[in-house]
Amino acid sequence: TISLSNKIRQLRPSPSIAAKQRVNELQAQGRRVLDFCLGEPDFDTPAHIIEAAISAMCSGDTHYTGSQGIPALRRAIADKLRQQNGAEYDPSEIVVGIGAKQLIFEVFAASLSEGDEVIIPAPCWVSYPDIVKVNGGTPVILPCTAETGFKLSAPALEAAITPRTRWLVINSPSNPTGAVYTRDEWLALAEVLERHPDVALMTDEIYELVSYDGIRNLTPVAVAPALRERCVIINGLSKAYAMTGWRVGYAAGPAPLIAAVTKLLGQSTTCACAFAQTAAVAALTGPQDPVAEMNAIYAERRALLVEGLNALPGVTCTAPDAAFYVFPDVSALIGARTPEGGVIASDLDLVGYLLEAASVAVMDGTSYGSPGFLRLSFATDTDTIREGLSAMRRALSALS
Ligand code: PLP
Repeated sequence: TISLSNKIRQLRPSPSIAAKQRVNELQAQGRRVLDFCLGEPDFDTPAHIIEAAISAMCSGDTHYTGSQGIPALRRAIADKLRQQNGAEYDPSEIVVGIGAKQLIFEVFAASLSEGDEVIIPAPCWVSYPDIVKVNGGTPVILPCTAETGFKLSAPALEAAITPRTRWLVINSPSNPTGAVYTRDEWLALAEVLERHPDVALMTDEIYELVSYDGIRNLTPVAVAPALRERCVIINGLSKAYAMTGWRVGYAAGPAPLIAAVTKLLGQSTTCACAFAQTAAVAALTGPQDPVAEMNAIYAERRALLVEGLNALPGVTCTAPDAAFYVFPDVSALIGARTPEGGVIASDLDLVGYLLEAASVAVMDGTSYGSPGFLRLSFATDTDTIREGLSAMRRALSALS
């Protein structure tokens, strides 16, 4: 037998990928599942992006590229960061990888030593703590409540910083809550970080272009330029352009860190797919109407789902500012009894009950560091949302 490393033994499987597998298994058994676990747009990639990939393939764009990513893409990313985010980055300060996830992984691999602490406000995306752990770091999860809009406050950050703190990770807009940090909130966090020069800031902005009511994500570099030398922006094309399967993401940050990440890519994956990179140039520089069209559809679904959830017994749901998830509070249902006499002792039990009794698949808040909540994705069609709400109403009304 091949023994596994200590590193891998402490790594949990991604709960969202596990949920997807569970839904697939039930569907393979012929069961109809109303799936609210989707972590990706349900739209196809816009046609002009697909055409760009095909013509890239046909014209020989089928070889390895440099590990940092093709110059045309890094230039397009630099232009995007300047125009949309007010952040000045030279293409040499940008590295392209196989999705934002790979870059989060490699930035930590390149910078963490055993025992270094990484502050992660919760609710948080399920992968950060495990990516930190597998790279030798210690995740320090800071629970944030609905009172602060699920966002990290400056005093909570100050109190959590120790001599071992190396990073603060902020995901704005957030998966799972859709929370977006405002200028004042960034300024307050920046003020704390200015007192702690050894703490770097990673911002995961993957959902920035999926937003509602004119809300715009701000990157901290634009708000607090003094932090520039210790900020890393993580972003990618997966969510905004419905390109999850293409696997293109990027990091922008100080040149020495970008060089270290590039070296790691050169010794691991070599480069992101050549023609996916060319297609990414088309996505960033071509017509942006598909992004607006998808957002308009998400906005309708968001309204439907938020209203429907608030009408369910024991469920309270605020409308997210961005991303395509809602994060309803279901704590009022904890302790309820099922018709079979079982007890819903946690949000995990509620997830199991909804799957059994309503064939509705949702994610538990516990996986995101917030027990008592559920995460539902509205990257799914309105028929599924309507049917799901009716099925949940029946199942929740049967609780006592
Ligand atoms: N960051 C967050 C917060 C996400 O929710 C996801 C995907 O679910 C990612 C990063 C990964 O994105 P990519 O497809 O670019 O790897």
